[in-house]
Amino acid sequence: MNPNPQSGREISYSRNVFLPITNLCRNSCSYCGFRRDPNDGAWFMSPEEVLELAERAKAAGCSEALLTLGERPEVHAEAREKLEKFRYENTVDYLKSLCERTLELGLLPHTNAGLLSERELQRLRRFNASMGLMLECATELPVHRNSPGKNPKLRLEVIEVAGKLRIPFTTGLLIGVGESPEDRAHSLLAIRELHERYDHIQEVIIQPFVPKPNTPMTNCAGPSETELLATVAMARSLMPEMNIQVPPNLLGVVQREGYGFKKAVEAVLLAGANDFGGISSLTPDFINPEDPWPSVAELRAAIERVGFVPRERLPIYPRYAKDERFMSREVRKRVLELADEDGYRAG
Ligand code: SF4
Repeated sequence: MNPNPQSGREISYSRNVFLPITNLCRNSCSYCGFRRDPNDGAWFMSPEEVLELAERAKAAGCSEALLTLGERPEVHAEAREKLEKFRYENTVDYLKSLCERTLELGLLPHTNAGLLSERELQRLRRFNASMGLMLECATELPVHRNSPGKNPKLRLEVIEVAGKLRIPFTTGLLIGVGESPEDRAHSLLAIRELHERYDHIQEVIIQPFVPKPNTPMTNCAGPSETELLATVAMARSLMPEMNIQVPPNLLGVVQREGYGFKKAVEAVLLAGANDFGGISSLTPDFINPEDPWPSVAELRAAIERVGFVPRERLPIYPRYAKDERFMSREVRKRVLELADEDGYRAG
């Protein structure tokens, strides 16, 4: 099976800066180590903090500004107070401004803010090269009993609206949180159906659950190596043309003793993955801070060892980077500066 839908032997990744705008969230997922309660480790980044990091990222050669935050943080008074202090009426106004300023600096924003309305998606589209919302699972699961925003029906509706708005979109599955193999298949089929209708899903992430300290699931095992590889293979089989991503810092499940990073990369590539997502030399993965990203050199070497060609992309995938229907005028201007003739990262 050809693991690469784009040109056969190329395996992509992007260089990003992770901007964890706030860890306040209205949901409470049983596996989450990112969310914090007000007065217990919560933060809300100021514009100055965000832009200082974005400037450093630009200087370091990154192309992607990944804005991630808890869903509807303004349900908490602490978030509302911060927004008022920064002179914004709501979180989406704040995000729009941050994305606009980040785009002006020369980075391409990719925002992942949980459930958003059509109007909110439309406003953010103008300054985002792509956006994301993990479906996680198309079946309701007990781990989401305190998370109204994780209702799969609502998530699928947002992904559909993003399709109507022609937003290059990232979604995917979180595996090992109580779902069955059938649930995984149903989730992939639901994503495929929306992509067949709107042609906007640029990548599907297969993300293994990794237990986090101080969470209700701290003693739960993550998925097995077989489950991860089988899900990647199922995704490739159901969507032969789709970009299938596995985060390279979450390959621990495949990295047994004597089965190091390079072998793990080989295993997921041969199972059908063709992308390793955004990696950062500046910031940790704030969702999985105990799992450091590999360096770009380490990742490239591991890909080359399997006989594939590593290629840096932008946060908007090559085929969308060449299709102006999927970009605002502002985003397109920046994409033209950063992309080569194939739609990958220039230079
Ligand atoms: S996983 Fe996301 S939605 Fe769930 S509690 Fe954590 S930040 Fe909120």
